[in-house]
Amino acid sequence: MAGHRYQAPRGTFDVLPEAARVRARIQDTAAAIFARAGYEPIATPIFEDTELFERGVGHSTDIVRKEMFTFEDKGGRSLTLRPEGTAPICRAYVENGMHALAQPVKLSYAGPFFRHERPQAGRYRQFHQLGAEAIGTDSPLADAELIGLLAELLAELGVPGVELRLGSLGSLDARRAYLEELKAHLRAHEDALAKEVRERIDANPLRAFDSDDEGTQAVMAEAPKLVERLEGEDAAHFAEVRALLDAAGVAYEIDPTLVRGLDYYTRTIFSFVCDRLGAQSEIGGGGRYDGLVEQLGGKPTPAVGWAAGIERIALALDESVEATGRDVFLAVADPERRPQALTLVGELRRAGLSAELDLAGRGLKGQLKHADRIGARQVAILDADGAQLRDMSSGEQRPVEVGNLLEEIAGGVA
Ligand code: AMP
Repeated sequence: MAGHRYQAPRGTFDVLPEAARVRARIQDTAAAIFARAGYEPIATPIFEDTELFERGVGHSTDIVRKEMFTFEDKGGRSLTLRPEGTAPICRAYVENGMHALAQPVKLSYAGPFFRHERPQAGRYRQFHQLGAEAIGTDSPLADAELIGLLAELLAELGVPGVELRLGSLGSLDARRAYLEELKAHLRAHEDALAKEVRERIDANPLRAFDSDDEGTQAVMAEAPKLVERLEGEDAAHFAEVRALLDAAGVAYEIDPTLVRGLDYYTRTIFSFVCDRLGAQSEIGGGGRYDGLVEQLGGKPTPAVGWAAGIERIALALDESVEATGRDVFLAVADPERRPQALTLVGELRRAGLSAELDLAGRGLKGQLKHADRIGARQVAILDADGAQLRDMSSGEQRPVEVGNLLEEIAGGVA
């Protein structure tokens, strides 16, 4: 009987080389943009204490209530595969005393994240985000710079059909009065709300704006909107962010119903959506989280950041990046020359050429066929008299001195 055929776990996928090339272009483009703007790379562990996310992301969020991959380690600690990157980065900021560095600390990251969601196109249980954070400033300039970086990334990659939605949640204190008003509105229309929304009127009333239930949506259309209630410094901050985006030529639309699935956001929130994606249309988003560092045990430290989904960017791009092919394939006419071929191929690679040799013990004919399949531009054949160099596009072949092989091959590449 054949052995069991294993499959990648539900909601996960293999990144095969073809997809990996697209993802490498996305990540390289992002890394260059981050480097030019001074957002230094940071990497935090794939798992953290469960409590970090419960406190940071918020007990009443879908992420914490339903979507975390939580497990107990052999020491009885509760750990969770990270569902997002901001709480871990704030934990690292506090733990490593990064408040003592020049502020704001500007960081960027890319890596896998985990949420136990119902898989569909653009929504996975292991997905990958890249993101950036500026920690230690409440200036609207930081909001505008970060939004501008994500806009630039999507533009430079050529993601089509992108729109930016902008909102503000106000500061935590100022939001309190509004939330009471919103709860009163929800209670007054309780019968028309979805069960899930009704159960969370007290814990998380803002999420009602995000519901796809028709009855709830009708109630929310009439609900008071937070952006219309902003006052004082919150209103001034939001006005400044908008003015800076206008000045920078970043197009956006104010969305009074915009909310995000994490509790830590304050003031500015934003979302880049793409009309090429289906139901999961958000390609990236983020906002300000002025209370999070303090909540995780640090000094009061305002901050702002975003994350974008690498799979969603790739889906929206729907492109392929061609394999680069090889500069040279080193074939041997005589098996005795294999050790020499291995040494030579190492020299060629150290000289900066992409070079391969036969790893399967093929005869000469088989090696030439293989060189063609992997897209080698030239084939060097070590034979009894020395070497032959063949140009694979013209088919032209000529004898060369083994000692001159590197120079000759490099000449054929240029
Ligand atoms: P969030 O951390 O929820 O603010 O999400 C930021 C971005 O990550 C989203 O805009 C998506 O592009 C991406 N994302 C979030 N959850 C998933 C998921 N389950 N599968 C794929 N991408 C996701």
